[in-house]
Amino acid sequence: MGEDRDAGGGAGADDHLSGVGGGADPEAAAGEDDVRGDAERPDPGLFAAVVGQPKAVAQLRASVRRPVHAYLFHGPPGSGKRAAATAFAAALLCRSGGCGVCLDCRRALAGTHSDLVVVERTGAALDVDGARQIVARAQMRPVEADRQVIVVADLHLAVRSAPALLKTVEEPPPTTVFVLLAEDIPEHLVTVASRCVGVRFDPVPEAVITAQLVAEGVEPALAGVVARSAGGRLDRARLNATDPEVASRLERWKHVPDRLDGTGAAVVMEVEALLGQAEDALGPLRRQHADELAALTEAATMAGRKGLPGRKEIEDRHHREERRWRTDELRTGLAVLAAEYRDRLEDATVAGANRDASRAAAAVTAIEDAAAALARNPNESLLFESLFVTLAGMGE
Ligand SMILES: [Zn+2]
Repeated sequence: MGEDRDAGGGAGADDHLSGVGGGADPEAAAGEDDVRGDAERPDPGLFAAVVGQPKAVAQLRASVRRPVHAYLFHGPPGSGKRAAATAFAAALLCRSGGCGVCLDCRRALAGTHSDLVVVERTGAALDVDGARQIVARAQMRPVEADRQVIVVADLHLAVRSAPALLKTVEEPPPTTVFVLLAEDIPEHLVTVASRCVGVRFDPVPEAVITAQLVAEGVEPALAGVVARSAGGRLDRARLNATDPEVASRLERWKHVPDRLDGTGAAVVMEVEALLGQAEDALGPLRRQHADELAALTEAATMAGRKGLPGRKEIEDRHHREERRWRTDELRTGLAVLAAEYRDRLEDATVAGANRDASRAAAAVTAIEDAAAALARNPNESLLFESLFVTLAGMGE
């Protein structure tokens, strides 16, 4: 994916494509960029909101001067695709290549520039009507800038409508630049993707998330805890930083060994408590989902629709995300537990307590096995009960 194309005929899109393609080395592209005058260099502050994506940002900055007709930003949720799309659009609409201070830049960043079109789905996914509107808009001339930028969000969900965009994305008028956003590239998106330059967004490293949250005013200890359970998603870390229970939940995992007293009753109680708190952990996500449903419903009503189109698909997606979130929470808990036994292993080794050391090592292995098994949709109660029986040494 991300193959360079020269058929777009976009503004300067038909020459000098090497160096901006998805497969190209962004560092090399950035180097090429050095020949540009300072006046045309995008302001570093323009991409400040894109956290932990140096490669994607370097690639985009290198693309500003001679953009191609279409880009596909792909990567997990919470990796900064939207912020990057806005900053990139500002750079493309700014007469100085993204100074960060002119009216064009400021209006683009604020989402109020008349030549920046951001298309959000109004239901479960972009529908065919929505795709037709995009096609029509792409044919229009820019209102005030030299070009217009059309950002289309959540294209990985657009199973039915993505093909309707193909022709236009492939060859838009020279004054239109597409920025398509997708969490991944499913089957229905492969052809469209092959007509775009790919820009890849990776999960944000844990340390970067921690530093960012601290910069945003989150207390450092809490920032570290939520970054650890965020799975590379800055948005999730931010959401969890507002959850006052997050630290105490991880604390409970840390003290599991103290509560396993060798009785079956203790095992059952512990498993129940941990699965219960994993359910509680869903609170902030569920509130976010409820807000999203409310906003989509309101938008549909404003558009004169009866009810929300695709409500069931939206709810199904929310359930999938909640399941994934819950599994991540359990996996994080297991990582905390494994760390606890690793500490014990180290202490026992230092003290020369060989039997304790080998038990702690076996515990770490059992926990890692359980974490791997979690991905296979097991009966969670049975999985954790069996693990805790092993940890308590009850099988000996
Ligand atoms: Zn500017």
